[in-house]
Amino acid sequence: MPIWNPRIETMPRAELEQLQLERLQATLNRIWDSVPFYRRRFEELGLIPEHIRSLDDLRLLPFTAKDDLRTGYPYDLFALPLREVVRIHASSGATGPPTVVGYTKNDLRNWGELVARLLSAGGATKDDVIQISFSYGLLTDAFGFHQGAEEIGASVIPVSADAPDRQIKIMQDFRSTVLVGTPSYALRIAEALDHHDVPLSSLHLRWGIFGSAPWPETVRRRIEFLLGLSATDNYAISEVMGPGVSGECEENKNGLHINEDHFLCEIIDPDSGEVLPPGQAGELVITTLAKEALPILRYRTRDLTSLNLETCSCGRTLARMARVFSRTDDMLIAGGVKVFPAQIEEVLLQVEGVEPNYRVIVDEVGGVERVEVQVEVSSALLTGDVSQLLKVQNQIRQSLEADLGLVAELKLVESRTIGPVDHPSQRVVDRRRAEGGDRNTRE
Ligand code: ZN
Repeated sequence: MPIWNPRIETMPRAELEQLQLERLQATLNRIWDSVPFYRRRFEELGLIPEHIRSLDDLRLLPFTAKDDLRTGYPYDLFALPLREVVRIHASSGATGPPTVVGYTKNDLRNWGELVARLLSAGGATKDDVIQISFSYGLLTDAFGFHQGAEEIGASVIPVSADAPDRQIKIMQDFRSTVLVGTPSYALRIAEALDHHDVPLSSLHLRWGIFGSAPWPETVRRRIEFLLGLSATDNYAISEVMGPGVSGECEENKNGLHINEDHFLCEIIDPDSGEVLPPGQAGELVITTLAKEALPILRYRTRDLTSLNLETCSCGRTLARMARVFSRTDDMLIAGGVKVFPAQIEEVLLQVEGVEPNYRVIVDEVGGVERVEVQVEVSSALLTGDVSQLLKVQNQIRQSLEADLGLVAELKLVESRTIGPVDHPSQRVVDRRRAEGGDRNTRE
């Protein structure tokens, strides 16, 4: 597949780091002059922009947290007056005040370019018909992909998150070759295909570019098989841009290439804040290098990943981040063990006849914690031989204990009683606390 911007995407590391440093220094000077929030933080730390002379000095800078954007709602962190801002997006605000992001004309141009890079890496070209099934609205995904798809010259169909049946009809009639959306929505479309006995031969899909929520390898294989396409992952986070931060290449599907000329990424220990070396897993922290309306310093994403600086077999020199499956605040501590919902999902998907839909219920009865895992299984398994059912039940229970140390009661339920969710954290119902079950999804 062609590389959209070979000059940047295959730039030697030393040259790239020089570019990053120049852009970082320019960003700091702009922020110092125009964002009182950061000016105050700098002054508290006794810092001025001139103190940052190398990329290593990045660690001297203060972090930015989601709460800082919420406290500054809506425009306090903007570096330019609204007359320079041509687009405003916001998070859903489902779990607290929304975070608001703004874009200048240049920001929008850059956004289109960065998404064009990851669409190209994922296999799309100007010959493709790209169906976008993200919701068009305040969230960043649909508009971000829309611009990138137009940038590469593809034909864009802005279907939005319409009902799966309608998506299928449009896919057939308009001969869509690329599907863009959330992995859970792709599975809903696959379910509808199955439900209506629609043959894959009536579709023209070749690629799928999915993201905005974690999806294990097993789910990737399932989507590829059920929709007859090749699926790549991308990482989007609205506070620094939306989609366009990083994406997998079709050749390798082993780590997401970060657009490092726009995003300076660090991995830190989430507890101490200490910067970790490449290869080590920790929390992703992002500094924007070219954003005009809303430059952000060391944004704590709460997403857990690691960095790989080796040149990829696709030829890109841009660092790769490991796929994100967990967030620092997803961790469930139950029955004396620490476990992430995504790990439970991986275990379940190894078992034949088990659907990727499950729920974990944590309760406390008389001071004793009780964990129940409810899992969807195929109706053939539920109505078939009881000994087979017991075998599956035991297999899951033993794997959870052996692989994760999690001792749980197991309940097998019929298909479609739990259903897909947008983020693994939504799989957890924690009844130990009053606000049980209301966990954040990535916004
Ligand atoms: Zn690659």
